Amino acid sequence: MTFTQRHLLGIEPLHPTEITALLDLADQYVDLNRSASKHSDALAGLTQINMFFENSTRTQASFELAGKRLGADVMNMAMQTSSTKKGETLIDTALTLNAMHPDLLVVRHPQSGAVDLLAQKVNCAVLNAGDGKHEHPTQAMLDALTIRRAKGRLHRLRIAICGDIAHSRVARSNILLLGKMENRVRLVGPPTLIPSGMSEFGVEVFHDMAEGIQDADVVMMLRLQKERMDGGFIPSEREYYHRYGLDAEKLALAAPDAIVMHPGPMNRGVEIDGDIADDINRSVIQEQVEMGVAVRMAAMDLLARNHKARPREVEV
Ligand code: ASP
Repeated sequence: MTFTQRHLLGIEPLHPTEITALLDLADQYVDLNRSASKHSDALAGLTQINMFFENSTRTQASFELAGKRLGADVMNMAMQTSSTKKGETLIDTALTLNAMHPDLLVVRHPQSGAVDLLAQKVNCAVLNAGDGKHEHPTQAMLDALTIRRAKGRLHRLRIAICGDIAHSRVARSNILLLGKMENRVRLVGPPTLIPSGMSEFGVEVFHDMAEGIQDADVVMMLRLQKERMDGGFIPSEREYYHRYGLDAEKLALAAPDAIVMHPGPMNRGVEIDGDIADDINRSVIQEQVEMGVAVRMAAMDLLARNHKARPREVEV
């Protein structure tokens, strides 16, 4: 087996062959999900706990469905009303859950690094469902699968990631993954929303949208992450849309067969024109959601196999 990880905390530690192994297995789960029964026993008898300390619609639903389709017992913790609200620390919550012997913990947390910390304290597989501005590995994997299926390959593509790079864990995980797979990644957005020093990551930076998406094979739009902004990063939404919103005129500059992506939730008329988002000839936004379930099934399946092969007791 080429996937050797015990947790999926980020794209950073993954080898390109591990990324390919996960995507190959996800392809098989796409077929299963399109079949009549949609069911496998890969996680039968295992317990999956989803802990979302931040709101989520598609990611939480996707992980829940993925676990159920693989036969796991899935529990969603209501973190808004849990003991963390009464002052319990993340570590105490983790230890409490660990004592219930889960096999898979899916965690979303507003603080970067919180999921890594938690993974050190439990003896099950931990999957990062998004930690602050740090990483969102299953999103990057589902984006990669969507691109690979639409373009027939995942290397030597011109990929423009546009918008609020600074506050986006989606951008960070995608930059890492697409770079590892040898694509030409461009970051497009206003200087206030692209951190300095990004060229160290082997990407090109553009502040002019027309230049940035010229001849791109993939145009990936990002949401303005207002909940992570504490100041005036953009003059106004109207001005932002004018300069950086994806409309038909700007998209015409990309390659004629360029695909349009967005991780959701989408702000129509802020970062993307509604008609472009709904254009089934260009937009793969619904495919991204579909690939999300398959990728999460593959990730949990691979991690469960690794834990079964090499059980570990952690010192806590
Ligand atoms: N859903 C993605 C995330 O959780 C993207 C976004 O919220 O804009 O990071």
